[in-house]
Amino acid sequence: MNISVIVPLFNEEESLPKLHEWIQRVMQENKFSYEIIFVNDGSTDRSWQVIEDLRKENKNVHGICFRHNYGKSAALHCGFQKAQGDVVITMDADLQDSPDEIPELYRMITEEGYDLVSGWKQKRYDNRLTKNIPSKLFNATARRVTGIKLHDMNCGLKAYKQVVVKNIEVFSEMHRYIPYLAKTAGFNKIGEKVVQHRKREFGESKFGINRFVNGYLDLMTLWFLTKFGKQPMHFFGLIGSLMFFIGFIAIIVVGAMKLYALHQRVPAMLVADNPYFHLSILAMVLGCMLFLAGFLGELIIRNSQERNNYLIEQQF
Ligand code: UDP
Ligand code: MG
Repeated sequence: MNISVIVPLFNEEESLPKLHEWIQRVMQENKFSYEIIFVNDGSTDRSWQVIEDLRKENKNVHGICFRHNYGKSAALHCGFQKAQGDVVITMDADLQDSPDEIPELYRMITEEGYDLVSGWKQKRYDNRLTKNIPSKLFNATARRVTGIKLHDMNCGLKAYKQVVVKNIEVFSEMHRYIPYLAKTAGFNKIGEKVVQHRKREFGESKFGINRFVNGYLDLMTLWFLTKFGKQPMHFFGLIGSLMFFIGFIAIIVVGAMKLYALHQRVPAMLVADNPYFHLSILAMVLGCMLFLAGFLGELIIRNSQERNNYLIEQQF
């Protein structure tokens, strides 16, 4: 099969028939063999019935129905597991992404050899203040942290080689950073394509302004996980030791100064009244705690099933 199209959706009943028809038309015009996997993320409207009806008329339609609204990442994850096409395409259900982009995305993956091609909504039809401007800021940060030069990391329209989606795990709200997940899994050929963007026709956006707060926090988590996820001791142990060392030196200096003053018989304040004494103790205690956090981290990793997960490309 050439293409799997994965569509995560939450309360998008009005858009689905039109989206389905459009994808079907593009596939037929280009003679692709395909499947469309609709992942109903706990919709409370009639979305699932609509999908069941679509399935009756088109056997290329598949569906996954969650009992609960788990989020876009969960929907994508399950879609990825089910996908069988050589090229996997994800797109939003709200008709903001155009299926007309599919043939070119397919070509970039199969002919130009990209592992992942991300859409770039160069001209966006969203609210300027709540989306477009924060999104520019967000992407600038994401570019710096991840080192991937994409203009629109969180674009819903993306294309992947099948092997990529089978080897990354999108969890919590990490759908915003799939290119980064792919890169850390060893898929480096990441490209970008300017795609058409359209106004939302029906319903409203499912993500509020808190997307940016969560987005930043998730970016920090990911950065930490990829840098120190397998060796937490390298992070906590280092700053823990450093803090302990600074506190230890400082407390020796405080003690030595007191001893010197006693020896010279000059008046000096009580060690317990000296603010540096308390600061040094604080630094030493914090240092120990950080060190312990590192040890605990290592103990947790030891039990993790992923500790020996490697992606082997070839072997003899
Ligand atoms: N979506 C989802 N689960 C959620 C929220 C959103 O599957 O909990 C889907 C939604 O139906 C749409 C896509 O994710 O197909 C993108 O959402 P939306 O259009 O609201 O985001 P925006 O375009 O505003 O960034
Ligand atoms: Mg949208």
